[in-house]
Amino acid sequence: MSDLGTAAPPVSPGLSVGLDIGGTKTLAVLLAPDGAVLAQSRLATEQGATGVIDGAVRAVEGVTRQAGMPFSAVTGVGVGVPGLVDADDGTVRHAVNLGLNGDPLDLAAMLSARLGGVPVGVENDLNAAAVGAAHLIEAESGSGSTDLAFLALGTGLAAGLVLGGRLRRGASGAAGEIGHVPVDPAGPACPCGQRGCLELYASGTAVSTLWPSRTGRPAPVELFEAAAGGDLDAVVARDRYARAVAAAVRMLVLSVDVQHVVLGGGVAQLGVPLLDAVRAALTDESDASPFLRSLDLPARVRLAPGRVPVGAVGAAVVGRGLAAPATRSY
Ligand SMILES: [Zn+2]
Repeated sequence: MSDLGTAAPPVSPGLSVGLDIGGTKTLAVLLAPDGAVLAQSRLATEQGATGVIDGAVRAVEGVTRQAGMPFSAVTGVGVGVPGLVDADDGTVRHAVNLGLNGDPLDLAAMLSARLGGVPVGVENDLNAAAVGAAHLIEAESGSGSTDLAFLALGTGLAAGLVLGGRLRRGASGAAGEIGHVPVDPAGPACPCGQRGCLELYASGTAVSTLWPSRTGRPAPVELFEAAAGGDLDAVVARDRYARAVAAAVRMLVLSVDVQHVVLGGGVAQLGVPLLDAVRAALTDESDASPFLRSLDLPARVRLAPGRVPVGAVGAAVVGRGLAAPATRSY
């Protein structure tokens, strides 16, 4: 594990800040010691190493100021970023969306130095979202040790896994990369070098292929509106897409038997209509299989709770764990 906290003796976790730094926007939350979200904010992301660090400092200062809290009460900061992250040393590589194309960025150490030595943890954004979803579901249900997969339906398709209350990264960080499980050997070529990968059917990009945007709004919104309006072609396309997402849900449950599969990523902004379509597809499949029916897949798939950014909340949970490593669960 990281050793970022050696400069100061471990202290009881106080406030923590979580940042979800995406290609265009940075979401920030301030988390209370009891896990409640005290404030949240949204800023434009600045590109390049200097821009990312400067923007992160501004976001941390902004969200604490918004809550009327002194920065000295913050005992940890967590950051979720797209790209390859070494969570042990807090470096980021290949975060092309952030303009970090070349050398690894020592994000944790550089940001910690700018924040007066407050411990900083860095996590892949999808893993942070899985941790955030687990935190919010545990708060909602009052129970711990959540088993869940956070299924991101975005440009690509991948899942973050929290198993028995702990983040599962995998032996090489590839846990949950189900987007590149081939589901049709005769399917189209995937950029990964295989054919017919699940991502080609169930990602947000796949929706744009099935039902290209006609008015400039997001393709999933147009598809689901047209289907709800009775357009038969749209109904066929929507149901085909829902079956592909259902296949991803089934794959996750049959692999690691998670209790919850949380739909996330851009397509999940559709909310209940997406959830209903995926549940209907799962119910159809269960009708033919007593085995699948016994697993009650429709009851396991859900949306993230609340109206808070799950990725930033998860990053804050990572940051909170830095102040008291003995109690860290992620
Ligand atoms: Zn692939």
